[in-house]
Amino acid sequence: MDKESFYKALLDNLYGGVYFVDPDKKITYWNKLAERLTGYKAEDMLGRSCYDNILRYVRSEGAQLCLGQCLLARTIEEGTPMEAHAFLHHKEGFLLPVWLRVAPIRDEAGNIIGAVEFFNSEKAVSKLQSELQELRRIVSMDFLTEIWNRSHLERKLRGLIAEYAGQERGAGVAFVDIDHFKQINDTYGHHIGDKILKRVAATIKYSLGDNDVVGRWGGEEFLITLYDVDSLDALRNICEKLRTLIQSSTLDLEGKGAIGATVSIGATLLQPTDTTETIVNRADHLTYRSKQSGRNRVTVG
Ligand code: GH3
Ligand code: MG
Ligand code: MG
Repeated sequence: MDKESFYKALLDNLYGGVYFVDPDKKITYWNKLAERLTGYKAEDMLGRSCYDNILRYVRSEGAQLCLGQCLLARTIEEGTPMEAHAFLHHKEGFLLPVWLRVAPIRDEAGNIIGAVEFFNSEKAVSKLQSELQELRRIVSMDFLTEIWNRSHLERKLRGLIAEYAGQERGAGVAFVDIDHFKQINDTYGHHIGDKILKRVAATIKYSLGDNDVVGRWGGEEFLITLYDVDSLDALRNICEKLRTLIQSSTLDLEGKGAIGATVSIGATLLQPTDTTETIVNRADHLTYRSKQSGRNRVTVG
């Protein structure tokens, strides 16, 4: 396939209407979805000027976009991309709400040699946006515990470090590790182990502040980013509350009693020189100290 047919195939299959105009605003390309969205075939459109005003875009307040405020003319003149919400006249006469974006096309020397317009129905765009949002959410979640996963946590940590750089207010990170979890699995089975993991995750999630984020760092380990914590005492209070809540919640074994789990926590305040690695290592190390001093405890530092 040569380069031109490759791009043509690509554009024809794009999830949106696309057309090109030359500097005189004569249409030089009109893709398949543009045909479908407007009712006009490529052969109706090629070589015609968009100022023939076939689509007769109308803004929601009623102003005709093609007259006076033609976006293609403006993008060619000003050399910047632009976006708008408008209604286009379908060949059948009805108005279709669309989102449209225009951008100049340049040659290798940077001269503007035309413009491209991408447009799609508002419905399709909002459906795509919500699908994209849902996909983003799915790839950031841990499936078992339904809290954030490690890669999302790493992004959040980088965000926290950037946000707090050079600021007076403080932030913290807490590492939470379930005690003797292997023993829980061995005694009650993996399935019950999974339920304990979910319960601990949910207990942490629902007891945190609005901006704080908890995610699953690994097997039975969780990491929490805590916003606006200014002292080790404040940090300790938050973590003690978590530790007590987790200790107090039990899992009902349906007639066979109930089991609980405890956690060891290590928490630290963000330092100006911290990277995600240094702060996580410090919190991990403090958790290890909680383990060494008997488990079911909090160590801050
Ligand atoms: P410690 O108090 O020192 O933390 O001991 P521990 O037994 O909790 O720690 P260890 O690292 O020895 O064992 C962690 C266990 O967590 C081993 C692993 O099989 C279990 N685990 C990891 N992921 C899952 C999971 O998704 N579900 C279940 N049920 N178990 C898991
Ligand atoms: Mg562990
Ligand atoms: Mg453990």
